[in-house]
Amino acid sequence: MDEAARRAGRSPESVRLMAVTKTQPRVVVEAAYRVGLRLFGENRILEAEEKFRGLPGDCELHMIGHLQRNKAKLAAELVTCVQSIDKSETARALDARLLAIGRRMAIFLELNTSGEASKSGFASPEALRAALPEISVISSLEIRGLMTIAPLTEDAGAVRRAFRALASLLEELKAAHPELPLAELSMGMSGDFEIAIEEGATLVRIGTALFGERPAP
Ligand SMILES: *Cc1c(COP(=O)(O)O)cnc(C)c1O
Repeated sequence: MDEAARRAGRSPESVRLMAVTKTQPRVVVEAAYRVGLRLFGENRILEAEEKFRGLPGDCELHMIGHLQRNKAKLAAELVTCVQSIDKSETARALDARLLAIGRRMAIFLELNTSGEASKSGFASPEALRAALPEISVISSLEIRGLMTIAPLTEDAGAVRRAFRALASLLEELKAAHPELPLAELSMGMSGDFEIAIEEGATLVRIGTALFGERPAP
């Protein structure tokens, strides 16, 4: 990560490492905590619940998988950020639950940059732009940035184009909405985090490269 940042003329401190602990047992989370990791990501809220209840208060837990509306209550109670908002309905469901417990939360808007139907996220920059006014007025949510999963391909050029598209969308939205706290680009996983950092990622989401291969589902 440091090398990729330096190559791109960026300071290594400008990129945060998220440990993605899906499928890993709680002992792995505890070990990661002991070596200094504080930012964790999970893609299923029920799995996150059993693993993260009672962790020290200095941990930051982000939901990075698709959030179903009927799980909004649990997400509102458990996580510090939902990175995978791709519908204003989900944002409103989260808002209702947050208001009920007097909390605020950071969110990212997810863009599907791969065109793969299996991936979640807004289907296009236009769809994301169209939803922004509705979501940005929701009082319990702060839109901190954008998130994407690059296409699953060996073609490094296609991966780079996806990251570049997300970075340029963030720049556009920052210029159009200076009142919003937009700053974060969550992009890059074990196989492509270096490209993501070169293209401006502020947060990379790493599972396999930290913890080894996950068991097949
Ligand atoms: C699993 C997952 C990751 C981590 O993937 P690795 O390739 O194991 O690093 C990152 N982001 C999301 C959204 C994931 O679901």
